[in-house]
Amino acid sequence: MRILVTGGAGFLGSHLCERLLNEGHEVTCLDNFFTGHKKNIVHLMSDPSFEMMRHDVVDPFKIEVDQIYNLACPASPVHYQHNAIKTIKTSVMGAINCLGLAKRLGARVLQASTSEIYGDPDVHPQPESYWGNVNPIGIRSCYDEGKRCAETLFFDYHRQNNVDIRVMRIFNTYGPRMDPQDGRVVSNFIIQALKNEDITIYGDGSQTRSFCYVDDLLEGMVRLMNTEGLTGPVNIGNPGEFTIKELAEKVIEMTGSKSKLSFLPLPSDDPKQRQPDITQAKAKLDWEPKIKLEAGLERTIPFFKDIVDAES
Ligand code: NAD
Ligand code: UDP
Repeated sequence: MRILVTGGAGFLGSHLCERLLNEGHEVTCLDNFFTGHKKNIVHLMSDPSFEMMRHDVVDPFKIEVDQIYNLACPASPVHYQHNAIKTIKTSVMGAINCLGLAKRLGARVLQASTSEIYGDPDVHPQPESYWGNVNPIGIRSCYDEGKRCAETLFFDYHRQNNVDIRVMRIFNTYGPRMDPQDGRVVSNFIIQALKNEDITIYGDGSQTRSFCYVDDLLEGMVRLMNTEGLTGPVNIGNPGEFTIKELAEKVIEMTGSKSKLSFLPLPSDDPKQRQPDITQAKAKLDWEPKIKLEAGLERTIPFFKDIVDAES
């Protein structure tokens, strides 16, 4: 198949492009390099089945493909809050442009949605039927509401124009090629631990997250895309739930670090807990994550060690 991956130079997108090429597809990566990097895809450039398009999803694009994975959007709070208006435009206009393309081509299109659409959830764990608890005017809203609007557009194009959609709600994912500058908790903690610097815990560290290793996540993504008769939304994430303090302690232990914990103010609207209910993914995709947090961290720490060693 000919497959378009928007955001293909980012963390998840670059792994996805690689996987699709390995499966024998022709892959076009569309990216404006806002948070993505050429180094994530440089090893794919010599593959004749791989093509790179420097473009912004906010502006319409024409290309002939059979499937579209729409991943273009900054994903970490530091990056999506950098230019909040651009973040909403990316989610909303990017969705419209991908859906318009899918409609014209009769192509299937998958939206990389997020657990953030549940906001600061008062239902735990979160099933897809939960409508969420989202602040519409806070500092996270550009991302949360942008992604919610994108989901709405996906279902409206499906109902009105019969577009073949897949909506995937991704929970916190980690692994090699996370941007070391994007301020996410796994990357921050590993880098700080490797440098023996204080581990920056926001709040008292009792808030929870459920961390999915990138390979597990992509398996769920590709299965959802290729399952017939299922629009979603489907949660894909690892139900193993940890407090942020537990994560810090685990990273310190696994890196043999001398770092101490340092407690900083909690950013506003920071969700207190998050854990996917993956009943649907298990039943309909026969999918569940295989890589536990410790095993995933073992594969991720060396990636950051190379970066830290290169700096020193
Ligand atoms: P990332 O920041 O590494 O990748 C996003 C990519 O999109 C980057 O390559 C960036 O340059 C590109 N991009 C951003 N704005 C663009 C625009 N206007 N036009 C074209 N390209 C643009 O983030 P990621 O972690 O790989 O996330 C990929 C997708 O998955 C995002 O849509 C994100 O919202 C979603 N998601 C990720 C997670 C996670 O934990 N990583 C969780 C939930 C949802
Ligand atoms: N966090 C933290 N220290 C950091 C970075 C993040 O304590 O250096 C916390 C953050 O406040 C949140 C959790 O870790 O409670 C996950 O943050 P991340 O930005 O990785 O993802 P998200 O909040 O979008 O789930």
